Amino acid sequence: MALSETEIQRQKEIQQAEELLFSGHQELGFAKGLFLGNFVADWAMPYPRLSSSQQAEVDRALTELRDFLDEHLDPEEIDRQADIPRHVIDGLGRVGVLGMTASKEVGGRGFSQMQYCKVLEEIGARCASTAVFTNAHHSIGIRALLLFGTKEQQEKWLPRLMNGDQLAAFALTEREAGSDAANVQMKATPTEDGSAYVLNGEKRYITNASIAQVLTVMARTPVPGKDKDAITAFLVTPDMEGFEMIEPRMAKLGIRGTATGRFRLNNVRVPKENILGPLGKGLRVALTVLDFGRTTFGACCTGAAKTCLRLAIEHANTRKQFNKTLGNFDLVKKKVARMAADVYAMEAMTQVTASLIDRGLEDYMIETAMLKVFTTERLWDAVNDCFQIHGGSAYFDDSPLGRILRDARINQIGEGSNEVLTSFIALVGMRGPGMEFKEIYDTMLKPWRPDRAKAWGAGLKRLSAAVKVPEVPVRSDRLKSYASQLARVVWRFNFAVDKALITYREPVMEMQLVQERIAIAAMELFATTCVLSRWDSELNDVGKNGEYGTDHTAADLFVRRSLRRTREALRDLGDNDDRALMKTADAILAGCNSTARNGA
Ligand SMILES: Cc1cc2nc3c(=O)[nH]c(=O)nc-3n(C[C@H](O)[C@H](O)[C@H](O)COP(=O)(O)OP(=O)(O)OC[C@H]3O[C@@H](n4cnc5c(N)ncnc54)[C@H](O)[C@@H]3O)c2cc1C
Repeated sequence: MALSETEIQRQKEIQQAEELLFSGHQELGFAKGLFLGNFVADWAMPYPRLSSSQQAEVDRALTELRDFLDEHLDPEEIDRQADIPRHVIDGLGRVGVLGMTASKEVGGRGFSQMQYCKVLEEIGARCASTAVFTNAHHSIGIRALLLFGTKEQQEKWLPRLMNGDQLAAFALTEREAGSDAANVQMKATPTEDGSAYVLNGEKRYITNASIAQVLTVMARTPVPGKDKDAITAFLVTPDMEGFEMIEPRMAKLGIRGTATGRFRLNNVRVPKENILGPLGKGLRVALTVLDFGRTTFGACCTGAAKTCLRLAIEHANTRKQFNKTLGNFDLVKKKVARMAADVYAMEAMTQVTASLIDRGLEDYMIETAMLKVFTTERLWDAVNDCFQIHGGSAYFDDSPLGRILRDARINQIGEGSNEVLTSFIALVGMRGPGMEFKEIYDTMLKPWRPDRAKAWGAGLKRLSAAVKVPEVPVRSDRLKSYASQLARVVWRFNFAVDKALITYREPVMEMQLVQERIAIAAMELFATTCVLSRWDSELNDVGKNGEYGTDHTAADLFVRRSLRRTREALRDLGDNDDRALMKTADAILAGCNSTARNGA
């Protein structure tokens, strides 16, 4: 029977996902554990801390960076001129920011991901353009070389990229390959003698494209021995013949200081030595690199949210109306409190996620996706609340809030739009229990299967998760009640995931509203875990406390609100307006609705 086009597309997507995500046995991470009803505490508790020598390195780096930024970084001017001045880039290179996580042998500082996040938080707190520039150069630009480059490639390319002498970019996006990253159309055809590839195609929306000397470019190559082609990563330099910069700086709404470019490759000959990572595994290279980018994204958003909180506090404490400062009004207090709670959580979640990378967890894709979605959404809320507290004054050009608002909007779109990542979190997470159910179903249909013992194992695991509330280990008596509430919600979450899989079976893969609720619950559970872990550590490890000292009202508020949001998301799985919502959207999109027609 011939398969429909949709079915062929779906099979293709499943095959790509399998290839990308599930390469053999892996240690159970925090997020995958959650979806299986396990609370894998070790990855988040106790709260990860830098060693004293690492902390000293970070302190030194931050002092040097702050001195430099105080003197040379003018975010308003960068926004007005739509350019980051060369002396700022050179200075960032001098203080080590552009090669911080590379090893000292190649000219880097050998910083861990946790250390680097502290540095990026500082830049994100001041200027989003500079933060995105740095992220594009370091967290995604040279990251591919650091992770996948051969010794020869690293020796050849890295040293000049470490100090900003040369800059890097990461080029995945094309007109037909935005959210659908696997749909890259740029072609790389091998030359007859096999010594090179000839690249043709166009890339757009690429940060640093016109200022970079080294670009990691994703292109489609034939794979020897297979009848399909696949994506491969290439190191391309703009001096190669046929490299055409179509738009060096696309005019844009926010992060205006960054050079976002569009370029075309016209028969560009790239030597095969410039292939980065295995042939045909470019998508894996891209997704792995983006994991790092999403972690530093979290740090940058935390920094920006801290700035919003500071500006909100300053204004609420000084601006008077009705003979009172604004901070006396409950509706203003509510906003400030929410921001403080979210900032506490954003920082904790960034720290824990970065530590997963440092500790060598193999697969942290769900956690980095959760961090990206959570921190970008919370930053947007913080910007909105801060803007509102500032009233009309926020609207004028002498306030930084206009720039901060314009800058923050890209975060929910770039490095994977939040919608795509939300579905990704739910689908990849549900795959674990889904596979266990599949074993059980398959054996029920064919009880004589030779590997039926696997189904017993799967059944026992599902049963045990259904009856056993996991343990959330905290040290402080004060947090025991929250820990047991969290444990019960983890148990309810597992129950809800199983119920969704049993009720909807395979079609759940298309049901984004169900996926969204499951992803929201998972993100909140991860966030609450990180907050409890941090809070517990601050209560117990006196002397190593975070800047919130002994006042944990923000942490307390976060845990309450987060547990409430999780319960709501799970409850809404069974009580919602989804049908009406979809019916309305279908009618509107089909042009049957007069309200939409009149608005046109
Ligand atoms: C300033 C800027 C800098 C950038 N820098 C880089 C860079 O350095 N390198 C690089 O490779 N790319 C870069 N990008 C590209 C960026 O990653 C893409 O814009 C992003 O992946 C979204 O793709 P798109 O813009 O084509 O949107 P589309 O894919 O057209 O999506 C539009 C919207 O549709 C919705 N949507 C799409 N798919 C789904 C789905 N499956 N389910 C539900 N909703 C969906 C989402 O709301 C999404 O926001 C940059 C973009 C910008 C704006």
